[in-house]
Amino acid sequence: MVLQYSHEPFTNFKEEQHKKAFQESLAYVNTQLGKHYPLVINGERIETTEKKVSINPANKEEVIGSVSMANQQLAEQAMQSALQAFESWKKWKMEHRANILFRAAAIMRRRKHEFSSYLVKEAGKPWNEADADTAEAIDFLEYYARQALEMKDGASVKSRVGEYNQYHYVPLGVGIIISPFNFPLAIMAGTAVAAIVTGNTILLKPADATPVIAAKFVELMEEAGLPNGVLNFIPGKGAEIGDFLVEHPKTRFISFTGSQAVGCRIYERAAKVHPGQIWLKRVIAEMGGKDTVVVDRDADLDLAAASIVYSAFGFAGQKCSAGSRAVVHQDVYDEVLEKAVKLTKTLSVGNPEEFETYMGPVIHEASYEKIMSYIEIGKEEGKLMVGGEGDDSQGFFIQPTIFADLDENARLMQEEIFGPVVAFCKARDFDHMMKIANNTDYGLTGALISNNREHIERAREEFHVGNLYFNRGCTGAIVGYQPFGGFNMSGTDSKAGGPDYLILHMQGKTTSETF
Ligand code: NAP
Repeated sequence: MVLQYSHEPFTNFKEEQHKKAFQESLAYVNTQLGKHYPLVINGERIETTEKKVSINPANKEEVIGSVSMANQQLAEQAMQSALQAFESWKKWKMEHRANILFRAAAIMRRRKHEFSSYLVKEAGKPWNEADADTAEAIDFLEYYARQALEMKDGASVKSRVGEYNQYHYVPLGVGIIISPFNFPLAIMAGTAVAAIVTGNTILLKPADATPVIAAKFVELMEEAGLPNGVLNFIPGKGAEIGDFLVEHPKTRFISFTGSQAVGCRIYERAAKVHPGQIWLKRVIAEMGGKDTVVVDRDADLDLAAASIVYSAFGFAGQKCSAGSRAVVHQDVYDEVLEKAVKLTKTLSVGNPEEFETYMGPVIHEASYEKIMSYIEIGKEEGKLMVGGEGDDSQGFFIQPTIFADLDENARLMQEEIFGPVVAFCKARDFDHMMKIANNTDYGLTGALISNNREHIERAREEFHVGNLYFNRGCTGAIVGYQPFGGFNMSGTDSKAGGPDYLILHMQGKTTSETF
């Protein structure tokens, strides 16, 4: 019988004690800024001359820390370390590997606000968003450890008289873990530990913008007892070491989360078999989204407006699940739009270190420029209702922005912007709503706000997304409760935080003995 799992609760910052504790953590992390974090290969700290300086996106002058950058030669060294460590790590009992995850979860829980404070500083997350990111990382550790225990004896198969059949799962080998900036703790940690607990060894390449939080996690895993060489930490340029490792003949699998463009590149390059390679690489690729909140005629319109606004602007729209499109029935369109605009005007944009801030900056200059260029496109394609302004003098701040009256095929309705911009589109009837909801290349999340039972049941079948929500927003999946992953060009639908996830890091082995 496997241990009970329930997700890590979110911190209620309205309670003075929690607010004070978080402020103290932020003050502590402020004393830790500017440190340097070397590569970690086979437990050894390696400093390189090339360094990446990580800055606070809310204050460009403030350095969070720096990391050493791996080149191809060091990536090769990390590969050799992981290959060597695999020979012993694969023989560890699943229970013993799981215990390291349980211990890591306990350590992270004790230092929860500290980790969240790094997320505030390095990723620009407001308190609640940072707290949710850390909670999700703890959930991944707890949940995958329990899942591993469930899988440790394999699955049952039948045996005929005079025969004994068994079906077990064995690890794959060395995996490359490539993570995005937007859940720099949860996704980075979740994808890393899923591979580790199942007996693989890994090379972890964090996103360029958020390497310090990853370095803190690597330290934590060492403290939890992870043997040398199992997790090799190699920040480096995606284009340089990313391509090199994806094509490496000893790479057994790649676990990637990020944009569609990079995901497709990895998928294509991983498909080619190189000299010395004796397997087909497995690729887990979780990619972008263009997610829709659909509002029916028969809906609670306040709930609809709130669902649209909070799905669009949580973490400045930088979630793959962000609701960047609102498709609203024509009879309630004006009213929902008005409510959404009114609510948006109440949102505060500013320094995420301040408790009152609802929305912080976007991650970096390139992102700022891209989002601002989409705002210009929006002005051509639709009607600017609120926002539209940016200010990058100190940090990369963009006002929450709503555009109305978009054509269903407009660029704002089709392309992932990954910023605080939502496009409203009017629909004639429910058939039209479903058609628009499914008219992109993506298929990650979606929400239907409706009190029409028949429409809810139809959407359950017809709305083609990996994560579909009714009468709530389309962000905020919880590990173990709403397994997460998308259809179509949103990825390989690996369903992180779900019961089918760990198996992707293993292969089934059948043994059959005749007596
Ligand atoms: P990104 O630009 O695609 O980067 C993701 C990771 O890929 C980074 O570590 C990046 O390294 C690395 N990379 C870049 N080029 C590479 C290459 N040629 N080979 C190997 N790795 C390479 O994405 P992002 O801006 O960090 O994150 C935002 C995107 O992630 C959005 O599209 C969002 O929808 C998606 N996302 C999806 C999910 C999901 O579960 N479906 C969850 C979160 C985010 P560098 O940073 O060093 O370039």
